[in-house]
Amino acid sequence: MKKPPYIGRFAPSPTGPLHAGSLAAALASWLDARAHGGQWLVRIEDVDTPRCVPGAADAILQQLATCGLLPDAAPIDQSQRGALYQQALDQLTHTGLAYPCGCTRQDIATVLANSGHARERHGELVYPGTCRAGLNGKPARAWRLLTAQAGQQAKVSWTDRRLGPQTQNVSEQVGDFVLRRADGLWAYQLAVVVDDAAQGITDVVRGEDLTDNTARQILLQRALGLPTTRYLHTPLVLGANGEKLSKQNGAQALLLSDPLAVLAAMNAAAACLSLPASSGSLTEALAQWVQRWTAQWALKSSGERFHHSPA
Ligand code: GLU
Repeated sequence: MKKPPYIGRFAPSPTGPLHAGSLAAALASWLDARAHGGQWLVRIEDVDTPRCVPGAADAILQQLATCGLLPDAAPIDQSQRGALYQQALDQLTHTGLAYPCGCTRQDIATVLANSGHARERHGELVYPGTCRAGLNGKPARAWRLLTAQAGQQAKVSWTDRRLGPQTQNVSEQVGDFVLRRADGLWAYQLAVVVDDAAQGITDVVRGEDLTDNTARQILLQRALGLPTTRYLHTPLVLGANGEKLSKQNGAQALLLSDPLAVLAAMNAAAACLSLPASSGSLTEALAQWVQRWTAQWALKSSGERFHHSPA
């Protein structure tokens, strides 16, 4: 029987070179593509230009190559794809699902405070929908997705391959979210959804810290008439303070200067994914271990639910 097509991707933001956490995410998406006999793509998510570090994209691609994680097609850069994002925004505007917003942060805070519903989520105020009915003389700043029509709510239910059933009421918990920012930059949510569809991505495998974005992305896929991808969110590498490894809590750029260092980095990434460490001498090629990990990964993902326990 012909296997259904599988296209996966690793989508790093070039804010610095890979660290142990991002290598684990890269390895997970690579293994999932290999285990499914699929393709693996790399997309450089450089839309948030102020956060991008010059040279980081090349450094990441070089680090991936050093670890043997080679994409099946040339990587693409989101910074080159503004026309596609504009097309998607135009489509949403024409179908009445996107609207311009003239509110400053202060405007939003004031409306929320006056209504007694000052809801905040991850430092973001839940937008009260002020500009749904029009700009009221204000200049347009950002563009937002109309998450729910009047009187309705946008409850999105989906099943993560590892975490199981998930539900989020996007209109209530997040509000009408930004598609194009007030500074003119494309928002991550829009760029990721447009590109996943344009690249034919069937499976998103990424770190668990991104789980919370999924309902928004599914809602946006639906609004644009795009297929919904499958999702698998993998465990995070934690820093010394027990939080997600980041530059702030000591994530070091991976040192991959010699084969021993590469092996150590890959073993650490594998351990985070509950795969056994490669053992034996260095002369036992990493490639052999990669084959074993792929076979174990295929076993883990063969059931209804991905098994994140040691194989
Ligand atoms: N660019 C995002 C990041 O580096 C990942 C986006 C995604 O995998 O959907 O955190």
